[in-house]
Amino acid sequence: MITAHDLVVRFGQTLALAGTSIGVAPGEVVAVMGPSGSGKSTLLHVLAGILRPDQGRIHLGQQRIDTLPDGARSRLRLRSFGFVLQFGDLVPELSLRENVELPLRLLKVPRAEARDRARSLLAELEIDDVADRRPGQVSGGQAQRAAVARSLVHQPTVIFADEPTGALDSASGETVLDSFTELARRRSTTVLLVTHEARVASYADRTLYLRDGVLV
Ligand code: ADP
Ligand code: ADP
Repeated sequence: MITAHDLVVRFGQTLALAGTSIGVAPGEVVAVMGPSGSGKSTLLHVLAGILRPDQGRIHLGQQRIDTLPDGARSRLRLRSFGFVLQFGDLVPELSLRENVELPLRLLKVPRAEARDRARSLLAELEIDDVADRRPGQVSGGQAQRAAVARSLVHQPTVIFADEPTGALDSASGETVLDSFTELARRRSTTVLLVTHEARVASYADRTLYLRDGVLV
């Protein structure tokens, strides 16, 4: 579903990605592991269209996406990608429900449909009872389950997850990963999961290892 060839990213003298290629099939859950500084976040940012590679090509299905102009890249990101970051990327002023509805609102999905789709995901993730609270008024595990719901609600093609449970204790982390990977598999959504924890990577179908900007 998403493929990249010979990606190179430089930050000054630092070669963050040194000619990396990767292919992730539709519906596959792939973990990318590697030590700190190995280029995991850079790879995720490049594939997600947040950062342009200095060299290389990226395709989503048949479409080449790394050369799209900025506006088209932003629209593609909104429509086709979902994101789960470590923590704190829910909008703090909005309730969990409003956070989950947000991608649909941005995509101009009618309000009633947005409500219904958010409601069923909130229920599947067992956070419907706290859906009207803001992120600061729920536990870390509940907030991350809301972030998972938000990443899935617009039925994206690929979800990028960067240390999605890095801020949680292991019990809540497991609950989040169980429901995240189960819901993604049921919908055949591709997931690229970046982590430095083997326990987190064990939820993936396949694990890739990055070292010094190269998959080994
Ligand atoms: P990881 O996610 O595996 O910890 P990163 O992708 O964050 O690794 O970083 C890879 C390398 O690129 C590191 O050497 C890091 O210091 C460097 N790097 C990442 N982002 C930047 C940046 N914005 N400016 C300068 N160097 C960066
Ligand atoms: P989880 O394992 O999902 O992270 P916790 O065991 O941390 O959940 O929290 C248990 C209960 O305590 C939840 O119902 C949650 O709403 C409540 N709770 C936890 N932290 C907070 C907080 N900072 N503010 C309000 N309620 C909280």
